[in-house]
Amino acid sequence: MKNIELSKEIEKNQETQKVILPIMYSYKDKRDKILSEEEKEKFRDELRVIKEKSINNIFELKRKTIKNLENNGIKVIESKTTKDAINEIRKIIGNEKLIIKSKSNTANEIGLNDALKDKELIETDLGDFLVQIFEGKDLHPVLPAVNLTPEEISTKIKEKFNIKIKANPEEIAKFVREHLREKIFNAKIGITGTNVISSDGSVFILENEGNISLTSRIPDKHIILTSFEKIVESKEEALKIIKALGVFGTGQDYPVYVNIISGPSKTADIQNQLITGAQGAKEVYLILLDNKRTEILNSEFKELLYCINCGACLNFCPVYHQIFTRYGAKYFSGAKGVISSYFKENSKEAYNNGAFFCTTCQQCKENCPMKIDLSSMMRNLRKELVNQNIEPDSIKEMMKNVKEFGNPFGKIEEGKTPDKLYCC
Ligand code: SF4
Repeated sequence: MKNIELSKEIEKNQETQKVILPIMYSYKDKRDKILSEEEKEKFRDELRVIKEKSINNIFELKRKTIKNLENNGIKVIESKTTKDAINEIRKIIGNEKLIIKSKSNTANEIGLNDALKDKELIETDLGDFLVQIFEGKDLHPVLPAVNLTPEEISTKIKEKFNIKIKANPEEIAKFVREHLREKIFNAKIGITGTNVISSDGSVFILENEGNISLTSRIPDKHIILTSFEKIVESKEEALKIIKALGVFGTGQDYPVYVNIISGPSKTADIQNQLITGAQGAKEVYLILLDNKRTEILNSEFKELLYCINCGACLNFCPVYHQIFTRYGAKYFSGAKGVISSYFKENSKEAYNNGAFFCTTCQQCKENCPMKIDLSSMMRNLRKELVNQNIEPDSIKEMMKNVKEFGNPFGKIEEGKTPDKLYCC
């Protein structure tokens, strides 16, 4: 992308910045009220140990997890590629038309919504529902539609559903609740992601709205989309990750709900005969996606797999604050998205997603619960790209000038300012 296009993007984002930046900064204030500096550092150390231990032993942990999930009645399907995952999901869905879904990074990664265009797929998270009716893109993992004004939303609702509602958040939430309930109670398929999995066979999903509880329990079939780096050894460790997601992601001590799912619903109330499919889902499927994670695991970018997707790095990233989702991949914004796209797509895509945008300020590492060093990884990624001759023209020119003239600006004439003032 040319600098001029980026400048236009920044200018366009000024209104959005006014709304989203104070919210992102408020998360830090809230976090700091929950944990003192000393408690925060101790917690980060603890979390880092949990993730390092899990990732270093991930294949053994994965084997144990699959065995325990299956013993609990959850059907586990390992998918090497996004295409495999989509095929498996389609097999489970069969001829059903109506599908309800909650927020899932894995769903974004496999391009689920596009792949199921022939179905009626309904987002049940309020923000995601709004993004869906506006046919837009998530602005932020936990604030997907925060840039939309109540006026814009009520106009869109009138246009889409022919219903006039007042332009205020309460009225909008009430309308969406009623509209979604009708869909939720008619759907036979519910799709969710997961935040963490314990190797003893339980899946943990946090939420505030209650839509995930409904999506996972009301339909007959619950499909969980996830990937192996979410696995930790025990429920105790899983709950620490859940706490970290709240504290570091949105400055919440704990989310409103923590769903712990350990199989399809069941009852033995009639003569102690065990029947699956009581009030909740009758069948639970878990799609375990690889999509180049094994490659990442065996590379110098392994630390990427420690990420719990809390989104805190974005709240502190000066590049994201300017250009938002333009920085990163379609399934994850910011540096993590850029590095992931190097593996999941290719070098050119990583370049286009902003491999040279990072300022290496280290704010992401400072505020990451897992202390992931994204900016060092970004430097390593740049080395790889430069070796492949993929780098901005300005850098090429600067290097040429350094070799030729001993400075990045080129020929300097006394009393004259150089034509191009490159900054490194
Ligand atoms: S890199 Fe760290 S801060 Fe960013 S989403 Fe992952 S865990 Fe959160």
